[in-house]
Amino acid sequence: VTGSTSEASSEFELIDLLRSRLGCDRPDVRVGIGDDAAVLAVPVGHELVVSTDTLIAGVHFPLTTRAEDIGWKSLAVNLSDMAAMGATPVWVLLALTMPSPDRAFVERFADGFGALAAQHRIALVGGDTTGGPLSIGLTVAGIVPAGRALLRSGARSGDAVFVTGTLGDAAAALRRLGMAARRESDVDIALRERLDRPMPRIAAGLVLREAASACIDVSDGLIADLGHVAVQSGVGIEIAASALPASAALLAVSDARERLMFQASGGDDYELAFTLAAAREQTILRDLASAGCGATRIGRVVEGQGVRLLDDDGCEIALDRRGWEHFA
Ligand code: ADP
Ligand code: MG
Repeated sequence: VTGSTSEASSEFELIDLLRSRLGCDRPDVRVGIGDDAAVLAVPVGHELVVSTDTLIAGVHFPLTTRAEDIGWKSLAVNLSDMAAMGATPVWVLLALTMPSPDRAFVERFADGFGALAAQHRIALVGGDTTGGPLSIGLTVAGIVPAGRALLRSGARSGDAVFVTGTLGDAAAALRRLGMAARRESDVDIALRERLDRPMPRIAAGLVLREAASACIDVSDGLIADLGHVAVQSGVGIEIAASALPASAALLAVSDARERLMFQASGGDDYELAFTLAAAREQTILRDLASAGCGATRIGRVVEGQGVRLLDDDGCEIALDRRGWEHFA
């Protein structure tokens, strides 16, 4: 936020607020917020894993989303990419654009962001603060032992396909809410929680790094996201519609057809979809359970290409929409 002197001082007050609330004292942060750039120490024998994701008000979250939830979700969706790579997230940069230098908003944003950051001891090490329509751009950096990152490209014919947790809750909440969020009151609280406060599967990612052949986080929709695994691995994937895991909350509010839409193509789940040599299933499901994460077998990797959603008779189910796509 540049321009008049008073606005410029607000900008630095906001940066100071973010630094004091989210800076986190880590020895690997040699220089954090306050210089022209951060200086970070990557442990010997490790590689840096980086990604960035932007959240725009009214596109990635309903306009009436609470500031605390915007803070939590913007970090969660970025951490989810670290989980999918089997990386341990360590540092984050925040490009914050907002209509006015609103201290109360930033405090509440920092509350939600900080609650999740503290769980993983993540340090905010820099960013940028500008005026404009509300948008939150995060760049997250994590580490993996050299050569061990979990990729989309390793699925092999014969592998089994799994997904963590349950699918479709966030999409069901969003469908009832709408991006303009006028009908807030009639959305089930458990579904709303999945939309506003997704839980990145960091611990599961670390287990899967040692075991899975391929992994992706479900952000755009299961079928669309598995499509990337299929392309990058040079395989086909078959998914059994009736195997897709649903929460009790989702079962209570949807009929079978609508539920399948939410689960297969709704998106915003931030679960991990992964492939595994079938022989390893028991061990890995046990290790995931120890990490506090359930997983369900939903299909198999086959020769060929593309992702096919199948009913119990093995017939392909056509979806109106495979997943969320910008500019579509
Ligand atoms: P410069 O003009 O050199 O780009 P800035 O004035 O934009 O520097 O930022 C000053 C310091 O504050 C930098 O260390 C920058 O990384 C940090 N910073 C700015 N905005 C944010 C933000 N939203 N979150 C975290 N750190 C920020
Ligand atoms: Mg500078």
